[in-house]
Amino acid sequence: MRALVKAHAEPGLWLQDVPEPEIGINDVLIRVDRTGICGTDLHISNWDAWAQKTVPVGLVIGHEFAGDVVAVGDNVTGFKPGDHVSGEGHLVCGRCRNCMAGRRHLCAHTEGIGVSRTGAFAEYIALPMTNVWHHGANIDRDVASIFDPFGNAVHTALAFPVLGEDVLITGAGPIGAMAAAVVRHAGARHVVITDVNPSRLELARKMGVTRAVDVRTEKLADVQHELGMDEGFDVGLEMSGNASALRDMIANMSHGGKIALLGIPPEEFAIDWNQVVFNMLTIKGIYGREMYETWYAMTVMVQSGLDISPVITHHFSAADHEEAFATAASGEAGKVILHWRD
Ligand code: NAD
Ligand code: ZN
Repeated sequence: MRALVKAHAEPGLWLQDVPEPEIGINDVLIRVDRTGICGTDLHISNWDAWAQKTVPVGLVIGHEFAGDVVAVGDNVTGFKPGDHVSGEGHLVCGRCRNCMAGRRHLCAHTEGIGVSRTGAFAEYIALPMTNVWHHGANIDRDVASIFDPFGNAVHTALAFPVLGEDVLITGAGPIGAMAAAVVRHAGARHVVITDVNPSRLELARKMGVTRAVDVRTEKLADVQHELGMDEGFDVGLEMSGNASALRDMIANMSHGGKIALLGIPPEEFAIDWNQVVFNMLTIKGIYGREMYETWYAMTVMVQSGLDISPVITHHFSAADHEEAFATAASGEAGKVILHWRD
């Protein structure tokens, strides 16, 4: 089968023929339909310092996907050929304290598909049945293929109650833009999103934000004043990984405000801890998706009218992966989808 492989310890990805995966008794074999390109995939393609120390050469990469079940192992119940599914890309141990307590997203032994084990940018992928998510009726096939990053957005957006609250999102990349639609759907009052890239701010406007703010030219304090918000944002979702974005967020929160951090900073940086202490802010880190409450929330929100499809801006055949990766890296795109059947 064709797969996108990190075949050499140098920048690039190679579309190669690799053996089809074999399934064990607890596994599901999925014929991949569409996959989404994530920032992680760009790091692996570029072969930066993180990728060099994390990703084994020869790995099939990719973790955002949807497809159809083609075969199931003898122990598998609940899935059958033809089912439309995605996979949770984090494989957990199942035996540690957190796993045993049902907090699988907190497993300290998590492995990631397309990062430390065989990924989804291929014609087929095999996964344990405990990692397969059955898509509900009427889930669009493009939207299904980005449930992984949509899940990052939902996990972060619902980390704190947002009904009636004023929400600040820093970073209008695909995940920030999806989070904006999620908090709007969940009943937030004002949804303000920031970025430094006009095309990303334009994307966020399509997701129903109150205000999309270019922080190079506008101050958040002025935007608050204009919206009649006297006391600051109630909830902050950090989705840029940028130090000045987090500092700006901390400075613009209401007393008792709650911040969920998803963005991954490339290096350590300082913040003004006095603002955290004296304003009694709560800061919570977010990783991955809750298994499987986040998946459930995504499904029912889409079924109840949440539309994240505007975040998908480009489609390519897997054969055109170089152009697809260049588009994703340009900063001018939202989600870029690769198609594996053509
Ligand atoms: P992205 O890189 O496409 O988007 C980040 C956006 O932040 C960009 O549009 C960029 O222009 C913007 N930005 C840069 N400087 C800014 C500033 N000063 N103020 C406001 N915005 C600024 O990334 P994405 O795919 O949307 O993901 C969002 C973040 O979440 C990334 O940092 C990514 O690494 C991280 N992430 C974390 C997890 C997790 O499990 N914790 C999972 C997926 C992604
Ligand atoms: Zn575990």
